[in-house]
Amino acid sequence: MPMPNPSPLRQRVRQRAAQLVRAWDGPMTRDLVQRPGAFGLGRVPERLTPDATTQLTCGYCSTGCSLTAHLREGSAVNLSADPLYPVNLGMACPKGWEALAPLDAPDRATRPLLRGPDGVLRPVDWDTAMGAFVGRFKAIQAAHGLASVAFISTGQIVTEEMAFLGALAKFGMGMVHGDGNTRQCMATAASAYKHSFGFDAPPGCYADFEESDAIILLGSNLCIAHPIMWQRVLRNRRSPEIVVIDPRRTETAQCATQHVALAPKSDLTLLFGLAHLLVRAGWVKRDYIAAHTTGFAAFEEFVGAYAPERVSRETGVSVAELERLAHTIGTRERVSFWWTMGINQSHEGVRTAQAIINLALMTGNIGRPGTGANSITGQCNAMGSRLFSNTVSLFGGRSFTDPADRADVARILEIEEARIPTENSLAYDQILAGIDDGTIRGLWIIATNPAHSWIHQSEARARLRKLDFLVVQDLYADTETAREAHLVLPAAGWGEKDGTFINSERRLGVVRKIRRAPGEALADFHIFQLVAHHWGCGDLFRAWRSPADVFEIMKRLSAGRPCDLSGIHDYAQLDLAGGLQWPVPEGASAPAAERRLFADGVFYTPDGRARFVCEESRPAPEMPDADFPFWLLSGRGTSAQWHTQTRTGRSAVLRKLHPATTYLELNPTDARRLGIADAQEIRVISRRGRLTATACVTAAVAPGQVFLPMHYAETNRLTFPAFDPHSRQPSYKAGAVRIEAI
Ligand code: SF4
Repeated sequence: MPMPNPSPLRQRVRQRAAQLVRAWDGPMTRDLVQRPGAFGLGRVPERLTPDATTQLTCGYCSTGCSLTAHLREGSAVNLSADPLYPVNLGMACPKGWEALAPLDAPDRATRPLLRGPDGVLRPVDWDTAMGAFVGRFKAIQAAHGLASVAFISTGQIVTEEMAFLGALAKFGMGMVHGDGNTRQCMATAASAYKHSFGFDAPPGCYADFEESDAIILLGSNLCIAHPIMWQRVLRNRRSPEIVVIDPRRTETAQCATQHVALAPKSDLTLLFGLAHLLVRAGWVKRDYIAAHTTGFAAFEEFVGAYAPERVSRETGVSVAELERLAHTIGTRERVSFWWTMGINQSHEGVRTAQAIINLALMTGNIGRPGTGANSITGQCNAMGSRLFSNTVSLFGGRSFTDPADRADVARILEIEEARIPTENSLAYDQILAGIDDGTIRGLWIIATNPAHSWIHQSEARARLRKLDFLVVQDLYADTETAREAHLVLPAAGWGEKDGTFINSERRLGVVRKIRRAPGEALADFHIFQLVAHHWGCGDLFRAWRSPADVFEIMKRLSAGRPCDLSGIHDYAQLDLAGGLQWPVPEGASAPAAERRLFADGVFYTPDGRARFVCEESRPAPEMPDADFPFWLLSGRGTSAQWHTQTRTGRSAVLRKLHPATTYLELNPTDARRLGIADAQEIRVISRRGRLTATACVTAAVAPGQVFLPMHYAETNRLTFPAFDPHSRQPSYKAGAVRIEAI
């Protein structure tokens, strides 16, 4: 593929990258893993020039900012934001600036820990750890079948590691079931895109934030959850209408030109109501619909029942507000729709995401600058997981149940087709439920913390305790989940290994080793190599010697697919180009810095047409009632913390940017009625559990609603375990609680 056209800035990038490639030329981490039993433990890689800089993609959120690592004596001593990268343009949020601190934590896991007969976790060497891993899991499989051992992976490791894990577990170890924590954030968007576009293909790019006339944010507190994307919104010079659709008056809603404060879980009704108004006003691009879509006639008839008076009654949004929003969508030239967890984490998230897609299609807001129905992913590599983790879908967005797809993968990987499972994996919640009925008896959890983050936490913890053997692979041995493990494998973190991430705009960015992992901690990649060796399937992975080798395999697996990477030369080219968005097919002309899909109106469905999909809205499975009268909303509370605080909680700086103790936002009217003062200690109770919190009395939440940040360990004691039927994504955003003063 021809190299991108160099601008002066890009030329500087090239020069810098050329220096880097020279500085980094050499064994990198490869020499650590090619000799089973040796693994180079205790050696410091001699590959970084002193007092140099290098670039790597941030390891927290899906924005995919590039950070500059400042190196001294071959190791990173500081980070700053990369001014030349097309994603973040010199900006970073507090998590990015502080990304080294969690690596320096004194309580990093440095040796494998094995639980003895007395119930105590004790340090062991890697051979002993691998002996226990293989011995216990094989014994379970021998007694209960291959599918009785499963894995739960993550959107936090590099794509090459995800691919290795998925291949190892399913083709090498015989597992059938494996899912990722991306089920908690992106499963809904993936399902919606697959049904509507024919492939899990987020169409937009971040440039669309700057090129829209109207930016519609649904269930997204962009200021807090994706602060650098919000900075891209602020760079928009077209005086855009900024609309936030969210029950809560979030930081983003406070900055918006329109805040549509709908009732919790009424978003699907609202979106159908908007479609109704657009049809009624004639703000519909019938030429586009006729040429590029299917199913509009049925959809038009369907939304005929969503008259504004009904929609207003069910959503709490006035008819005037509905009409103003429909006017914005219908009359602006470029309208972009962006959604994230407020939509995805819902009992009817897939249909809601598709209702957003429907609006974009019917108004022709797709494939042009400043448009699109764009899901914003959560984790740094959620998109990598969706395409290459080999969990829900077979490599490259293929299907385990399609014989042609299985044959294709077997041919590319040169493995027997019989090694590929012929059935789909259970979803995350079904794997956990399988522990109850004995279907699942062994579980390998990699870089995620379900004992904190899974919905209805006490049920999840009880299930983990029933396992015959639980292995947790993580940076720290004291996560809520690691404390339940029979075996803890110490893993290197972001910045201690190599590979790629794929961000929300489909951009591949490079991650580098800028630190040596402490003690005997190993990159997940190396742990997978160890497992393959000890399991006895190492021969299958002879070609999987390094992340760079696996990247070549990913290129072959993706060739000819919508997510084609086959035209990317190597990591160095990704550096030179400032990352590259898929697809990059072999022989393609030099891609622009920012690209969107579907400019030609051709989608990935068999007939090339996008589909209108709709279904009647259903009430949330748990609604407030006399005993539990408040809606419980949950979400990100700060830019300074990440998910379960496993890493960010170890930064003294980040801890100062967020209240250390759990707080609950409560409307002043409700606080007065309950006799609760600001900063008073209160009790929050649901049918699943209870917690104590500090009251934060604020008009940011509406009367009858309360908000609890997701980062606190207690939050999921309260959440209600409902799941979208299509995506199996948990519905974290709605439950019922009562509040008591203490
Ligand atoms: Fe950028 Fe997200 Fe990292 Fe913050 S956490 S620096 S927004 S990638």
